[in-house]
Amino acid sequence: MDSENIYDVVVAGSGPGGMTAALYASRANMTTLILERGAPGGQLINTAEIENYTGYKSIPGPDLASKMYEGALNFGADYQYGDIQDLIDHGSYKEIKASGKSYFARAVIIATGAEHKKLGVPGEESFNGRGVSYCAVCDGAFFKGKDIVVVGGGDSAVEEGNYLTQFADQVSIIHRRDELRAQKVLQDRAFNNDKIDFIWDSVVEEIMGDDSVSKVRLRNVKTGEVSELDTNGTFIYIGLVPNSQAFAGLGICDDQGWVITNEKMESKVPGIFAIGDVRQTVLRQVATAVGDGAVAGNEAFNYVEEFKDSLTKEKISQSIKESE
Ligand code: NAP
Repeated sequence: MDSENIYDVVVAGSGPGGMTAALYASRANMTTLILERGAPGGQLINTAEIENYTGYKSIPGPDLASKMYEGALNFGADYQYGDIQDLIDHGSYKEIKASGKSYFARAVIIATGAEHKKLGVPGEESFNGRGVSYCAVCDGAFFKGKDIVVVGGGDSAVEEGNYLTQFADQVSIIHRRDELRAQKVLQDRAFNNDKIDFIWDSVVEEIMGDDSVSKVRLRNVKTGEVSELDTNGTFIYIGLVPNSQAFAGLGICDDQGWVITNEKMESKVPGIFAIGDVRQTVLRQVATAVGDGAVAGNEAFNYVEEFKDSLTKEKISQSIKESE
């Protein structure tokens, strides 16, 4: 076991929440490591414009991500690649196993976010990257002058549907009910967009094509009627699933995998906090993730301070050696 990598705080994930937590933790003079398996920014990287984060009328997601990244490292936090496989609670310290390495911390802040849920229909996997996409910002430009469908009725489907009309000729939003879940401002924008039409009360049962997507099979959930719709692409936005598999063994998640915390962002395991989209919460936004990150960074400081004398780096190092 490698006993070198001992930090006050390890932040798992570098979305807006994780980067804010790292800023607060390192500014409070704690040795802080951010572990991330992708690029800094989380879902920001795949978001064209953010227009509900205070201070910016509108800002491209990747631009906000790089500003947050600069801020996160400004007070000395380390940043390393790491795909987290396990988080072990040794009581006085925690062990994070990531990409074949072990890291140790007095406190861990889980900020691993969530990823797009899959439809689970035939063709979804086989046409992934050949007409099936979960990222309008990444793939929208491939659909210039084409017809596409967007599946879902929440903020993501409607916002990204609007975004995709700058490339596509026609965007059909397929929703399983006859009422959208999305914020009113996004709905109004879509209803007023000539390039968007809605297919209500319908689900996609299969995505079909040869080299790439050419049609989808739909079923009207009210009438049972099955139909086929020609399309060049299928963008799927039917919600999120938490990236919490690595923490399942700790018993800190609800039955859907969201990490349960109190208002201090504490999970039920002392020294383990959770923030942002991975947390069981009522609102998942950049602003809420940032707020969670500030609270967790501060609470992690209080936690580490409380045990600062009994939990020195030397004592942790000794415990690690004894357990080897
Ligand atoms: P969401 O809010 O959970 O909405 C998912 C949508 O997909 C719902 O309309 C749902 O239908 C539908 N759906 C779920 N499972 C389905 C299935 N198997 N087949 C067909 N349709 C299905 O997810 P989201 O839109 O990805 O948003 C995730 C979170 O990010 C939300 O908290 C959202 O507010 C936030 N967000 C915010 C912004 C913003 O503020 N600008 C932008 C994007 C996302 P029902 O309505 O019938 O359940």
